[in-house]
Amino acid sequence: MEKESLLGANFADLERKFTSIGLTKLDAKRVLPWIHVKCVSSFDAMTDVPQKVRSLLKENFFLERPRCCNLQKSSDGTQKALLEFSDGHQIETVFIPDEKRNTACLSTQVGCAMGCKFCHTGRQSFERNLRCDEIMAQVFFWKDRLPTLTELQYPHLLNLVFMGMGEPLLNVANLFQALELLLDEKNHNFSRNKVTVSTSGIVENDLLQMAKFGIKLAISLHAPDDIKRNELMPINKKYNIAMLLDVAKEYLSRSNTEHVTFEYLLLSGINDSDDDACRLAKLLSGIRGKVNLITFNSWNDSTFSGCSRARADAFLSILLSKGIRTIIRKSRGNDIAAACGQLKTTIK
Ligand code: SAH
Ligand code: SF4
Repeated sequence: MEKESLLGANFADLERKFTSIGLTKLDAKRVLPWIHVKCVSSFDAMTDVPQKVRSLLKENFFLERPRCCNLQKSSDGTQKALLEFSDGHQIETVFIPDEKRNTACLSTQVGCAMGCKFCHTGRQSFERNLRCDEIMAQVFFWKDRLPTLTELQYPHLLNLVFMGMGEPLLNVANLFQALELLLDEKNHNFSRNKVTVSTSGIVENDLLQMAKFGIKLAISLHAPDDIKRNELMPINKKYNIAMLLDVAKEYLSRSNTEHVTFEYLLLSGINDSDDDACRLAKLLSGIRGKVNLITFNSWNDSTFSGCSRARADAFLSILLSKGIRTIIRKSRGNDIAAACGQLKTTIK
């Protein structure tokens, strides 16, 4: 029998798996915090677990992190890791250090089926969803590395953003199980307001189900009207802007979060005019939202170009003058293609 990873296991999973090999509920209770609080990567480190139990665990399960095939470091301290799973598929995950917070950017799928025109990941075909243990493995990977990152001013992992490869809301079962482990105070204990899931706008019931976690929602809007959004993001033909905004309002009322973030990528000559800004402001008026203006991170063969800083500032001023909370988001890790939308791997 092939060994199974325990990196995505919650208490109920452990109990079920353990009893099937003759271990007890008490064993599960002892082992769980070693996995998700102390984050050890070997059963031998579990000093209060009897030797005999450890041997059985080693025979049936594993805690090893996926192989890191490539680790790149940007001049701004951002790091990008290429992780390979046992079937040979690879994903990227990014660590973004900051003075007061460190952020991990997590992938949820190998490739992406959404085909957004400006996104490098969207140019690859969709291969498969990541399992819960594979999503969690990215968190473990960065947590393991924290002690070696001596240059960090703040030595903890505080923020998680599901903004890596893939569309999180097309992998909800695994996403939700990972969120439970990450937010549970008896396990990883991340704060709800430090975890953000970004979606291209899958307006299914699952999005509203996610409100129960009380985490932050980011919506990749990128256009002030359906005609432009249809061009950039094919998903808009299925779930248009009006549907998206309705669900954003409903999410706010159910989740008790302060605001929804609208991500807006400024593409020169496409969606960055004064008129676009005015229409965007009109669209979002009355919604507890915040706009993050994103500069385009270019990649080979992309037909888009980012707008100038002056244009971005003008766009920002219009939104602010109309009472829309807006910031221009700092792009990180651009020199190692670790910024949003640049993640890409060679898929087998
Ligand atoms: N699939 C989800 C989350 C991953 S993408 C989503 O689309 O929301 C994370 C963010 O990066 C999204 O807002 C996405 O639109 C943005 N993005 C994609 N390509 C980009 C690029 N080339 N430059 C800047 N941001 C990009
Ligand atoms: Fe997929 Fe998000 Fe990229 Fe669109 S922007 S292709 S949804 S990863």
